[in-house]
Amino acid sequence: MVAAIDIGGTNVRGGLVDREGNITGMTHRPSHAAEGRGALLETLKAVIDELRTAHPIAAVGIGSPGSINHRDGIIRYMQAHIPGWTGTPVGPLVTEWTGVPAAIDNDVNLIALGENWIGAGKGSRCQLSIALGTGLGGGIVINGRVMRGALGRAAEFGHVIVVPNGEPCTCGNYGCVEVYTAPGAMVRRVHHYLRIGVPSALAGRKDISAKDIIEEGAKGDHLCRRLLDDAARCLALVVWNLMQIFDPDVFVIGGGLMKAGKVFLDPFHNELDRYYQPPELTPLITIRVSKLGDNAGILGAARLAWQWLDGTDRD
Ligand SMILES: [Zn+2]
Repeated sequence: MVAAIDIGGTNVRGGLVDREGNITGMTHRPSHAAEGRGALLETLKAVIDELRTAHPIAAVGIGSPGSINHRDGIIRYMQAHIPGWTGTPVGPLVTEWTGVPAAIDNDVNLIALGENWIGAGKGSRCQLSIALGTGLGGGIVINGRVMRGALGRAAEFGHVIVVPNGEPCTCGNYGCVEVYTAPGAMVRRVHHYLRIGVPSALAGRKDISAKDIIEEGAKGDHLCRRLLDDAARCLALVVWNLMQIFDPDVFVIGGGLMKAGKVFLDPFHNELDRYYQPPELTPLITIRVSKLGDNAGILGAARLAWQWLDGTDRD
């Protein structure tokens, strides 16, 4: 067994995973990430200790937000959401605690790796993944291995700019696809338009979620409909552009709006259909909805740990 860990903003989740991808002993604890590095490391250690008490482990695989130096296990850069996380030597610390090898990578890279192992991307040679959550994350898996780039920042698809000088993004730039497509960002957009008086069935509501935008959009609310169409257009633009660069076997898209059904998927596919591709090169794009759901990150972390042990992904 390996211990597989998924560090999230709300929870640190973990499980024991065998070589076939069977998960046992799933556990989770509140991450206290906003309290900073010390609190998060304490939670991480508690989750790993719980797992290795239940069963001996051969290695630990960890998914974390941020840009990760996967070779030395150090967090290269993390935005302010986890104070002090930049520079933390997570891999070496975990090895010190447990006495076994520890491999760490970006959380969305590992979602992609999990789907490539036993999910919607199984058997593909070039798989691109998009995960819609608070933000929009991406992953590239080629021949079963994560492609990380020079600084561990490859596949930051959320910060592909789709509207030059568009709306501001948390990354410091303007017009990133995340601003128009990620559920959390759509909620911020709807609040902005309601504040300036755009009419909508959501006017006067305080706790608005992406689900509310989807529901009202399906009923024909003009503002919600508009936001969903913007999201579909921007996501389709990024998918199309990525297809020109990678020509992937499969796109795996999961989370957020992919669960919205026709109200989002129809305009998204209509938008993709607008781009021209010679009929000889069809099928145009194979898009699959993620299969592993919330367990994709844990399974990807486990896959990385096994690859690390086998020496197949250590470059
Ligand atoms: Zn951005």
